Amino acid sequence: PELGLDPQHEYRLGIMGGTFDPVHYGHLVTAEQAREALDLDLVLFMPAGSPAFKDDEVVTSAEDRYAMTVLATAANADFIASRFEIDRDGTTYTADTLRALRAYYPDNVKLFFITGADAILDIVTWHDAESIAGLATLIAATRPGYDINQACERVEASGISFDVRYIEIPALAISSTNIRQRVSEGKSVRYLTSESVIGYIRKNGLYR
Ligand code: ATP
Ligand code: MG
Repeated sequence: PELGLDPQHEYRLGIMGGTFDPVHYGHLVTAEQAREALDLDLVLFMPAGSPAFKDDEVVTSAEDRYAMTVLATAANADFIASRFEIDRDGTTYTADTLRALRAYYPDNVKLFFITGADAILDIVTWHDAESIAGLATLIAATRPGYDINQACERVEASGISFDVRYIEIPALAISSTNIRQRVSEGKSVRYLTSESVIGYIRKNGLYR
C-alpha cells in the first residue's frame, strides 16, 4: 500500500505476522488494540509463506490462509491482507521481511511488528534478532496462557536493545490450533473467528 507520500508526515505501519491457519478473533483484537495504542495508520496482516518454526508440521496452503485473512480483514479499512511473505520462496524470516519493507518505504514510515506474548518470548532465538531490533519497534500483547513478564525478562536478558511496547489487551484464549482441533472433531467454531472464515473452512473442507 502507498504510504509515506507526504515526506513531512510520519506514517506508522503495523505488521501482524502469523501462520493464520486460520486467522481468528485473537489476531484481530490484538491488531486492533495495537493500532489504537500505538496510533498506527495501517496494519498489514501477513500470512507466513513457509513458517520458520513450523517446518515439521502440516500447514494449510498459503493461498487458503491468505484467502481467510482477506475475508477476516475485508470490512476494516485500516487492515490489509498482504501477499508479501507468501509470494516469497522458502522459509519466511521476519528480519528479511522487515528489511524488504524498510527498503520499500521511505524513512518517514516507521515499522511496528505486532506479536503476542508467546511470539515475543521466542524473539531472542529468531533468525537475525539484532536486525529486527534495528528495523522495527515491537508491540507485545498479552495472551492467555503466556507470561508477558517472562517474555519481558527474556528480551532484557538477550542484551539486544529491542524497542518493545507492552500492551494489555482483553483476554481471548483463542488459538488456531484449537480451532483446527474443533473443526476436525466436528465441533462448533462459531464466535472464535468470523462467519466468513468459518464459511470458507466449511466450503473448502479444511481441517477435516
Ligand atoms: P497456532 O495455534 O497454529 O500456533 P496461533 O493461534 O498461535 O496459531 P499464530 O498464527 O501462530 O496463531 O499467531 C500469530 C500471532 O498472533 C503471534 O504473534 C501470536 O502471539 C498472536 N496471537 C495469536 N492468538 C492470540 C491471542 N488469542 N491473543 C493474543 N495474541 C495472539
Ligand atoms: Mg502460534
